[in-house]
Amino acid sequence: MTIQRNLTQTHLNVWRLVASNPSPMTGPGTNTYFVGQKQVVIIDPGPNNESHLSNILTALQTLRAQAQAVVITHPHPDHNGCARQLADQLNVPLLSFNGSLQHHSEIKVDVVTLVVHHTPGHIYAHICLLLVEQSLLFAGDLVAGQGTILIIPPDGDMADYLASLRAMMTLDVAAILPAHGPVIKTPQKLLQQYVDHRLERERQVLHWWGQGYATARDIAAQIYADQPEVLGIATLQVEAHLEKLREEGHL
Ligand SMILES: [Zn+2]
Repeated sequence: MTIQRNLTQTHLNVWRLVASNPSPMTGPGTNTYFVGQKQVVIIDPGPNNESHLSNILTALQTLRAQAQAVVITHPHPDHNGCARQLADQLNVPLLSFNGSLQHHSEIKVDVVTLVVHHTPGHIYAHICLLLVEQSLLFAGDLVAGQGTILIIPPDGDMADYLASLRAMMTLDVAAILPAHGPVIKTPQKLLQQYVDHRLERERQVLHWWGQGYATARDIAAQIYADQPEVLGIATLQVEAHLEKLREEGHL
C-alpha cells in the first residue's frame, strides 16, 4: 500500500521510503525504513539530499509516528549522508556499529525488537538488523533486490562477506528487506545464489591465475571478455578474490 509518494507499507509495522538517488549501483535509490507503530526506528536515512530529508519528516507525520532512533547499516554516503542531520533534527540517538551497537545488541521500541548482526564484507562496519517478531531481515548492502554489491579491498573483504552471507542463511528469515530494490521473498534461495555466484567467480579467478594471468586486471579482462565496460569494477572484485585466495594459501 503506497500512502505517500515513494512511501510504501511492506509488512505489518514496516514502511519503506525510496530516496531519489537511482543509479546502476543503488538500483531505484536507497530504501529508508520506518519500523514500529507509534514509535519507530529509522533505518538507513539515506543520502545527503534535502528533498529526501524533508520526505522523511513528512513520512513521520503521515504515519503519525515518533522517531526513537536513527540506525545506519554501514557508513557509506548513500546510507548515512543525512543521518547526523536527521538525528539532530529529531533529537534522537544515531546508532551504528561500534558507535553504540555491537553484535547481538537489541533495539526495542514500541512493539518491535531489532537484533543487530555484525556482517562484515561489503565493509567491516556493516550490520544487518533482524526484526525478531516477524523474522524480517533488514540487510543493508549484504544483498540487493536490484543493483550490485561491491566488495572492494581494503574496506571490503571477500572471506568475511561469504561468512556473513552464510551466517544470515542460518537465521532462516521470512523475507529480506535490502537497502536497494524490492523486498526479497525467497531469502534462502537468494543468499545461496550470492554464495554460489562468488564461489563460481573464485573458481574462474583460480583458473586464469593457473594459466599465468598474474594481475587482477588481466584476470578480469579474461573473465569479463565480453563486457569491457565493467572492467574497472570487475578488476576490484577480482582483487578481493585474489586477497582471499592468498590469505587461504591457494596462490
Ligand atoms: Zn554500501
